[in-house]
Parts: sequence; C-alpha cells; structure tokens
Amino acid sequence: METQVIPANEGLHLAAQFIRDGQLVAFPTETVYGLGANAEDAEACRRIYVAKGRPQDNPLIVHIVHRDVLSDLMRGTMNVQAERLLQEFWPGPLTVVVPSGGHISSVALGGLDTVAVRCPSHPVAQELLRLSGCPIAAPSANRSGRPSPTTAEDVYEDMKGRIPLILDGGPASVGVESTVVDLSREIPVLLRPGAVTLEQLEHFLGPVMLADDLTPVRSPGMKYRHYAPRSPVQWWDTDDVDQALARWHKLRMSGLGYGLLASERIGRALRPALFYNLGDNDGAAAQNLFTGLRKLDRDRPAAIIVVWKQGTPLGRAIANRLAKAAAPNSVGDANDQ
Ligand code: AMP
Ligand code: MG
Repeated sequence: METQVIPANEGLHLAAQFIRDGQLVAFPTETVYGLGANAEDAEACRRIYVAKGRPQDNPLIVHIVHRDVLSDLMRGTMNVQAERLLQEFWPGPLTVVVPSGGHISSVALGGLDTVAVRCPSHPVAQELLRLSGCPIAAPSANRSGRPSPTTAEDVYEDMKGRIPLILDGGPASVGVESTVVDLSREIPVLLRPGAVTLEQLEHFLGPVMLADDLTPVRSPGMKYRHYAPRSPVQWWDTDDVDQALARWHKLRMSGLGYGLLASERIGRALRPALFYNLGDNDGAAAQNLFTGLRKLDRDRPAAIIVVWKQGTPLGRAIANRLAKAAAPNSVGDANDQ
C-alpha cells in the first residue's frame, strides 16, 4: 500500500472521506499523532490493531468533536465534579474512562464495558472529527512498543506501507500522550499521567488513586512494554553535572558509543558524540522526549542515556514514560502502544 503524506490543510477532506470509508488516517493532535478509524465501524477498528501490531485486549481512546457528544457514548451521567473537570480541560489532553453505552464498536473497547473518551484541541483533529461526522478511535500512530510519534516523519517511519494517509500538521505541542483518568469507579483512578496533572485532577475530583498502587492491572495497556527504542535506554534521575559526568566517564571506559538525551547544560559537560537536547524545563522535555529517543536510536548506540531529574507535576508524566522505555521487556514480546 502506498502511504501518502499530505499537509493537513490540503488533505482534510480526503482524510474525512477515508475515515467514512472505513480506512485509517494518521493525524496530528496536541499530544502525539493518532492513528484514526471510525469508532462505530468494527472492521475499520480492526485495521488499527493490524497496522500497529497491537494486542486486541488493549482498547482504543475514542475522540469526539465536542463535550456534548460524551453523553451519547456513556451509560449513566457524569457527576458535577466531573462535569467541571471537563469544562476546564476539554478540549485538551485529558481522557476519561466511563461506563460505555453507545454505538462504539466492541473491537475498539477491547471487550471492556467501559469506554475511554477524549476531546482533542488540535485544530486539525477538530476539523477531521467535524468533517467525518463520527467518533474516531485513535491510539498513538506508532508500531506497538515503539515511542509515540510527535511528527509526521515519525509516523511515516513506523507506518509506511501500512496505512494510506498521514496528515502532516507539524510537531505535536505537548509531546506525551493524554492523561487517562478512570471515572467509572467510586474513587477516580489515574491510569496514565499526562499534561493534566494529578494535582489538577484532585482540585476538581477530590482524592484520586494512582493505578501504580493497584493490583491487578486496571488499564489493559499498562501491562505491556512501551515507548522502547531498539537500543536499550538508561535513565539517570539527576540534574547534578558532576554526578552525571562521573557516571558518564565510567560508562565510556567500555569503549562503546552511547547516545545522550539531556539538557544542553549536561550535554556541554559530557560532550558525547551523539546528543539530542531534551531542553531545560519539563514542558520542553515532554515535547522532546519521544523525538529524541527516535533520533538517537537511528544511529543504534550501545545505549541511550537519559539524564533528567523528576521534580514538577508534569514530571510525573515524563518519569512514567521513561521508566517504561528503560524497563526490561518483562511481558515477553507483547507490546502496547
Ligand atoms: P494509546 O493507545 O497510546 O492511545 O493508549 C491508550 C490507553 O488508554 C491505553 O493504555 C489503554 O489501555 C487505555 N484505555 C483505553 N480504553 C480504556 C478503558 N476502557 N479502560 C481503561 N483503560 C483504557
Ligand atoms: Mg500509544
């Protein structure tokens, strides 16, 4: 299959036609690029799993054009706190899991009785939803287990020959996937940290539990390895130049070539042959994380060393992705994402 990459403003009508015809379209959102299909069309949703190589028990996030559509997709109603939360953060990088009650294909739901819904703010995503006239199921547009794509080029690298169309809307502004909060239980659970922080959720919802503290696994995607480049990843949780330098010297004694993903300050001190600038604040780090991992990975270093210290509320989202990128593949070769 030939994969066309078209500037978003030129390709939107064709993209909507593809979605209506049950085909897949990769499109930009404010978080990462999504791989979209008509969420009411089982066959179209199946194509997403095939193109990504994604396990079928890992459900898809359903994207909607406006907050009002949520009530059509869910069973029951939102409480006042949750309504206020959505008023504040929709459209935006927040996904809510609610009891499902609409026409979403069970293929997109991975067999669950809940549905994950998000209203994206990116103008291209908004316009694609409007022109298609249906909810769009869309996971990140990468091959399973790989870092999420934040540019059309990243999508092309993973999806060339597997999907007919990629809309190019420039780099994603947030850079990490949406916050996912489960509202289907008595106490809300943070399933995936993102740009909407735990503190912001708790401001509206009261106490929110962390999925990491719960067993068994609450979100099907959590059990799979994520975000992994081909080279192994090591995360050094520090911003201390001397400490990083000492570790770097030790590592270099092996004589192997390493890639470094860190702030410019750390980069200047360690002077690696292979470097990508992570930026000097967490907003920049979130934006640059996946692109940096992909770029460094193209040179196949012995390992990618990420030097970054967790501190701010947004840092929780970055730490979550880094821990997963650096984790040994504990669940065989079964990958999500
Ligand atoms: P992605 O495929 O990268 O967009 O990630 C979507 C995430 O949302 C995955 O971790 C899914 O497991 C999670 N998710 C989607 N639907 C549900 C649901 N109904 N309940 C819990 N988690 C969900
Ligand atoms: Mg993903």
